[in-house]
Amino acid sequence: PYTIEQVKALVREYPDFPSKGILFRDIFPIFREPEAVECLVEHFVDRIKALGQRVDVVVGLDARGFLFGPLIAIKLGVAFAPVRKRGKLPGEVVSVTYLKEYGPDVFEMQADALEAGHNVVIIDDLLATGGSCKAAEELVCQLKGHVVLNAFVISLVGLEGDKQLKAPVYALIEC
Ligand code: IMP
Repeated sequence: PYTIEQVKALVREYPDFPSKGILFRDIFPIFREPEAVECLVEHFVDRIKALGQRVDVVVGLDARGFLFGPLIAIKLGVAFAPVRKRGKLPGEVVSVTYLKEYGPDVFEMQADALEAGHNVVIIDDLLATGGSCKAAEELVCQLKGHVVLNAFVISLVGLEGDKQLKAPVYALIEC
């Protein structure tokens, strides 16, 4: 079995990816080790339970939030809902436009993904400027849900992404 420190050590850094000057953090090595994934999921589940708040829906962000968001939701015994890039989700959707490095992008959620008053935990692999997560918080707000926690494997604390967000932030690795 893995300790959480061993799980952290599996994250790899790639200089100059996807472009020069960017240090990319890759969480996929964790997924090569089933017991590391189990440890990671249990760690997040414990953190979420420690909030002492009811959680109704885990919301995962496109695309790496889909890797472990559903695993956390299953362990909590609650629903999972995806936030996706524009045009990928069928049926009635709510949308929000947010700014990425190279211009505006659109995130969407299915309108029936959560009910008014539902408590939500947002999950993604990495918090950078906070733009993506802020957009996800706005979608949850449009559906009259309430974000109780934004949880990440990694937070780039120097970028102060947490300051963009309304709900508290938890990150396993701060760098
Ligand atoms: P933000 O919107 O600036 O906070 O950027 C966060 C989004 O960019 C997340 O969805 C991440 O998956 C992605 N991202 C940014 N940098 C990295 C990285 O180094 N590794 C993996 N994903 C990253």
